[in-house]
Amino acid sequence: MEIIWKGSPNFDSNRKPITMVVLHWFGMGTLEGANATFQKPSGTSAHYGISDTRVWQWVKEEHVAYHAGNYVVNQKSIGIEHDANPDKLLSEASYQTSGRLVAEICKRYNIPLDRTHIIKHSEVPRNTQCSGSIDIDKIIRIAKGETMPELIQIEKKDFEKLMMEAREKDKTIEGLNKETNVLKTSLEEKSGQITTQGSEIATLGKQVSAQKGLVTQSEKAYYLQGIELSEAKSKIKKLEKAEPIEAIKDPMRYVVSLVIGAVITWAYTQYPFLGQLGGDQQSVAAFLIGLAVKGLDKYQFETGSKVKLPF
Ligand SMILES: [Zn+2]
Repeated sequence: MEIIWKGSPNFDSNRKPITMVVLHWFGMGTLEGANATFQKPSGTSAHYGISDTRVWQWVKEEHVAYHAGNYVVNQKSIGIEHDANPDKLLSEASYQTSGRLVAEICKRYNIPLDRTHIIKHSEVPRNTQCSGSIDIDKIIRIAKGETMPELIQIEKKDFEKLMMEAREKDKTIEGLNKETNVLKTSLEEKSGQITTQGSEIATLGKQVSAQKGLVTQSEKAYYLQGIELSEAKSKIKKLEKAEPIEAIKDPMRYVVSLVIGAVITWAYTQYPFLGQLGGDQQSVAAFLIGLAVKGLDKYQFETGSKVKLPF
């Protein structure tokens, strides 16, 4: 590490054992501006100043510099200024340089690399913003060797290409977001429709079950009609099994008529007084006999049964 000696009249020799490192920033100034101030008898100074890879020194470590706004702290500390301000973050190169310088100082005086011994100016009891946005933990990590340099060399045209690609990706993401919103709206509409269709389906379901009830009733009616039908069928079968009456009617009437004729003839021979009956009475008797035969026929036809004659 190349350290350039600049010198300052603002120091004294009332040193105490060195146990602390106090970190500052230039605030509104620069390395050159700090140099101009420290080289005048201004009453302020620091041991070191860092800007990227440059390290300037104004006060020897064995002397007290006036940086912390607190003389007791000044007596036992080393002060380092950094090239950063409210509008400018400390550069990566400055972080690396500072880490190395802090590591060397702490090794020299056996100072622990921690936040108790490496502090911001604002942590000395005094009202100041110094050292602002500087990441002290990062400097300590670099001083401990825990962090490798993070510098990436890249050509300007490659950088611009990467930036262009990044902007295009942003546009794509924007487009996708719009599509997502359209899909969301569509989805909300669809779910509304589904709800409507759901209630329609419920209504149809009720109608279907009502129809099913009707069908069940119809089936019952059909079943009852089936029973009636089979009863009617069995009646028809019975009737079919019955012997045809007409076939037997005439021969039977013939036989009955013959028998009755024979009986009457026999009666005439046995009881002569019957011969005294007039033709009218004979006609009435024949008519009554005829009625009886007809009645017998009708009975046989309606009942389906066959009357067995006693002879
Ligand atoms: Zn300061």
